Amino acid sequence: MSGQQAAATKEGDMRFRDVVKVLEAIEATTQRITMVKLLTNLLKSCPPAVIDKVVYFVLGDLRPSWEGVELGVGEKLTMRALSYATGVPLRQIEELYKKLGDLGEVARRVVQSVQQKASQKGGSILSYLGVSAASRKELTIGRVYDTLLQIARATGEGAQDTKVKLLASLFSNATPEEAKYIARFVVGRLRLGVADMTILEALATVFKVKREELEKAYHVYPDLGYIAKLLATRGPQALREIRITPGVPVQPMLAERLSSASEILAKLGGVALCEYKYDGERAQIHRLPDGRIKIFSRRLEDITHAYPDVVKYVSEAVNAREYIVEGEIVAYDPDTGEFRPFQELMHRRRKHNIAEAMKEIPVKVFLFDVIYVNGEDLTSFPLVERRRRLVEIFSPTENVELATWRIIDDVEELEKFFHEAISNECEGLVCKSLKQDSVYEMGARGWLWIKFKRDYRSELTDTLDLVVVGAFYGRGKRAGTYGALLMAAYDPETDMFYTVCKVGSGFTDEDLAKLPKLLEPYRIPNKHPRVVSKLEADVWFVPILVLEIVGAEITLSPLHTCAMNLVKPGFGLAIRFPRFTGRYRFDKRPEQATTVKEIYEMYLRQRKIKMAE
Ligand code: ATP
Repeated sequence: MSGQQAAATKEGDMRFRDVVKVLEAIEATTQRITMVKLLTNLLKSCPPAVIDKVVYFVLGDLRPSWEGVELGVGEKLTMRALSYATGVPLRQIEELYKKLGDLGEVARRVVQSVQQKASQKGGSILSYLGVSAASRKELTIGRVYDTLLQIARATGEGAQDTKVKLLASLFSNATPEEAKYIARFVVGRLRLGVADMTILEALATVFKVKREELEKAYHVYPDLGYIAKLLATRGPQALREIRITPGVPVQPMLAERLSSASEILAKLGGVALCEYKYDGERAQIHRLPDGRIKIFSRRLEDITHAYPDVVKYVSEAVNAREYIVEGEIVAYDPDTGEFRPFQELMHRRRKHNIAEAMKEIPVKVFLFDVIYVNGEDLTSFPLVERRRRLVEIFSPTENVELATWRIIDDVEELEKFFHEAISNECEGLVCKSLKQDSVYEMGARGWLWIKFKRDYRSELTDTLDLVVVGAFYGRGKRAGTYGALLMAAYDPETDMFYTVCKVGSGFTDEDLAKLPKLLEPYRIPNKHPRVVSKLEADVWFVPILVLEIVGAEITLSPLHTCAMNLVKPGFGLAIRFPRFTGRYRFDKRPEQATTVKEIYEMYLRQRKIKMAE
């Protein structure tokens, strides 16, 4: 161990250079297993004091997404900082960026060229700029992380300059490779494709904890930096102290799917609590002990700022000191009272002028569950009890209602209710178990909730949320854009993505024009280590973007790797005639895409239907 490394370790810090080496190795590998090994070794060698910082950095975030900490650093500002640190004129940096399209690579080259010049002159980058070499400090992860956090916290007047200076202080002390990863991090393009599950797997090995135990903690408190630090400083038993905490979103419970009323009732034991499935945005609404209200999305992002109206409506309608309730936020037309589709809400979320957006696209909230009230965790109570608690703390208002519901034990009645929901602009129904064991299963897609959607019936298969993992260049009319995208399903068991179709239909000219730009940040030279594909795409991507796809049926295919060998040796499953529905699922993480198991089950159901015909 070098003297410097020993010194760094003694202070409980770690050389940033050592983290960067691992990032480079992760980027170079095409094997997921290698990725996990690299992460495991990295976390093993981390001093406990900085393990959280390493975890956040690798994930490309400063804090868990639900804290909503934004660096507030764009490409322009990064280039200014680079120019400030190196003395290279901004215009020259901008030109290089135009040519290379990757700010990380730009930073690496700029710092390298300046350092080379400096060493020819016999000094460091700083001496080149007239600063003494002695003042240059080797970067540690602690320093990098803390500076980035300071950058994020710089707000108000003069914040831009403060940010530039702080970032420049990192660039001036960085090696070219360090500069590359710092630049990529700050512009949100770390592109490693390391998932939370990948980190959990590495943590389980490092701290010898059972995966299930770790996952449970993660469902209640989805902050991997915090969990890693807890394990490193206090050991695995400390996981048991993790509790549901207002202000910290829990992983939402998810529904399975079936395509007929009779199957649904049979699966739920003959009777179910059936509710409208609103076509809106899922919201987990928290009231903290200090009275603040926070709203979290399905992806656990803090979306409070987008819904000041919802904050007001819910605080008027729900009456308890502390709570976590769940519901769906739905846009509606104030003139007709009709609901508007989910896309309009997404549109509203992207608007800067919230006051205007609120007027243009008003919303209502339909509550359907309660997770926590006044210090009490309700997740282990059966649904009926949770509903009782929900009704107890809440009085319906014009804008906050209980999701329309009915207890149903008859197939015909269920069909009728389904059609009623559809004619009221809903997607269908969510049918929920009324049994004693109908707990709130955090982070799980289980059979306690079953969705019954319209699209199951209009075509042979349901819509699928698939992840873009590669693309094929277009020809003719599609020259210059992509002709088809290679789509994959997710398998939580292996934490990998398996291809299931190539989709080229359903894209409008507008989609086609914007796709290359949308996907550019995720482009990588080789197949991502978490992707299993037999097809050779022209372009590969980090699996991030989720699209909704509809197809005619699921067929056996020797070309696709989804459910490979499960039905027949040498064959996987593929979607026949896949088509993009026009719905970009920005609200879903790739790990929330349709799973291989779901596609396999759909295939079996389809076969059963065909055999019955
Ligand atoms: P989808 O793409 O079908 O919305 P999903 O993967 O986002 O599904 P699921 O758990 O499979 O989520 O389906 C339930 C979703 O339906 C919830 O995430 C929620 O956003 C929405 N929803 C609408 N109304 C209800 C309701 N009454 N109860 C539960 N979820 C509801």
